[in-house]
Amino acid sequence: MKQMSFMIESQTELKSIRDELNANEAFLKAQSVLLHIFSPYAENELLENWIMKINYFFGDIKIVGTTAGGMISNNEISFEAIELVFFIFEKSDFEIKTYDLNVLSVEEVRNDLIDLFSNIDHIAGVEFLTTLKTNKYISLLDLISENINFPLFGAGAWCVVFDENTLPKIFNEDIYDDSIVVIVYYGEELHIKSDYCLGWVPLGKEMTVTSMDGDYCINEIDGKPAVSIYEKYLKVKPDSHFFEHISIFPMAIIREGRLIARTPINYDKQGRLFFNADVHIDDRIRLSYGNFSYILKDSREMSEKFSEFNAQSILLFSCRNRLNFFGEKAMREVEIYNENSLVVSGYYSASEIISKDNKINVLNSSLVAVAMREGDVNLTYNCDQEKIVSNQSREQIPYLDRLLNFLEVTTQELEESNRKLEKLATSDGLTGLYNRRGLEQLFTYEMNKRTDNQNLAVIMCDVDFFKKVNDKYGHNIGDTVLKGVGHAIEKCIRSQDSAGRWGGEEFMVLLPNTKLKIAKSIAQRICKTIAELNFEIVGSVTVSAGVAVSDDETLMENVYHKADTALYIAKKNGRNRVEVFREDTV
Ligand code: GH3
Ligand code: MG
Ligand code: MG
Repeated sequence: MKQMSFMIESQTELKSIRDELNANEAFLKAQSVLLHIFSPYAENELLENWIMKINYFFGDIKIVGTTAGGMISNNEISFEAIELVFFIFEKSDFEIKTYDLNVLSVEEVRNDLIDLFSNIDHIAGVEFLTTLKTNKYISLLDLISENINFPLFGAGAWCVVFDENTLPKIFNEDIYDDSIVVIVYYGEELHIKSDYCLGWVPLGKEMTVTSMDGDYCINEIDGKPAVSIYEKYLKVKPDSHFFEHISIFPMAIIREGRLIARTPINYDKQGRLFFNADVHIDDRIRLSYGNFSYILKDSREMSEKFSEFNAQSILLFSCRNRLNFFGEKAMREVEIYNENSLVVSGYYSASEIISKDNKINVLNSSLVAVAMREGDVNLTYNCDQEKIVSNQSREQIPYLDRLLNFLEVTTQELEESNRKLEKLATSDGLTGLYNRRGLEQLFTYEMNKRTDNQNLAVIMCDVDFFKKVNDKYGHNIGDTVLKGVGHAIEKCIRSQDSAGRWGGEEFMVLLPNTKLKIAKSIAQRICKTIAELNFEIVGSVTVSAGVAVSDDETLMENVYHKADTALYIAKKNGRNRVEVFREDTV
């Protein structure tokens, strides 16, 4: 295949493009040709006029178009020019479908797409151009996630200047403000690879989403109105410049081990933030900032992979936030593709879409790149072999990046010491097990985590006649025995259980999702193991244990009380034994 792209500012240039195409061998022999149009204008009249003229010259070619926040090509980034990108396929084909979401329901579109996907052989990839007027496209992506076994990629429309009358659009023959264009690329020889990079670095304190309205609106972060984090940490007030100021500080979320970003698209008087991609309650977020070197490094790695793939065409969907961040240096990210002799075109979008591991992700602040190739890697390798040597080493580290690095490393160190402090505050100095505070926290955590009908079992153990040990051998020797008992208890429990020292010579074990019978057998194992220990000087000691399960109790003191009652009975019944709590025992 071959990709040809043109940036034009005047319709008079259309004719010479047609002439150039007509003189192009690949075009003349093509099996199919697709024309992508990226337009900075979203005003209907202007767009209609361009579409009419383009149709006049290229009426025999199918078109798909989107308005964009900037046009990207190998040679320039433009905010005025319309970009025409021709995908010229030698042996492959494509099918285009447009769905007007003002008319069709998400389910109807889903059914139609599933049919479409199952009726086409050798699908190499699917492109998804969407408007962002509503979040319907996200529901649709969720619905079709399971049915795709090919790369799916795309982006949300944006535009350079817009107001209420000129919202971003997508178009082919007609112009739409709430719709989706789907392009299915297929052919036995067609190979498509898509990937994304982010490059943003999470900084500062980790916060938690504590209240949401649906999937796209955050009410509160750490219990406070969501919008207030920007004022607190970045000194950005919610005013008409809000988005301009915050767009280069996306919220970073780690989801399934991957770093993704979210940038709000709106806020309201109550301090709520609205998004065009999903956020969840309990998501742990941090503000992030673009680190120039990291972003370029990520892009460079991606471009090298595409070069190895022998891409004949690269399509970029780059978030407009990257443009805000890069400013005048925006071309740097595109030049990386030039270094690898790749033919690039693309645009600045509002939300990037990419499938990874059978899930379709909607991203913010990212760069999604799509590489296409027809034929085998080696046979079609026709790129310029003399790649420009990577200029990574000549990259100067800007002063701001040093500052960011300082902040990043300090944050990591602070987090590490916070973790250590947290551990110290919840662990028992003598045995190294949890202390009472740690056990209480764990109890609440396990209680919140459990699902229906799951029981949390509790074992209370108390060393028998321990006073005598202290009296006879002294407090220090007593301490050694307590350490040994703690260690033995830890050995007897399962990996999901947790042991702690409740106080004095009393130990507690928490056993998530455990029935009374199992908990009892673990308690018996503890008694037996400890009775068999042989302590230096002291010889053997025994423990008694009481077992209870939470049932409908959610208060720790109530469950503790039950286990303690059973323990008391174990003591009364002769010690070195286990008793379980039953309602009729009291
Ligand atoms: P019982 O079988 O009824 O439990 O008899 P007991 O002697 O163990 O009785 P009790 O539980 O009342 O006694 C606990 C003793 O544990 C009292 C206290 O001196 C001792 N103790 C509490 N904390 C520590 C500690 O940290 N180190 C040591 N060495 N002894 C402790
Ligand atoms: Mg005691
Ligand atoms: Mg005791």
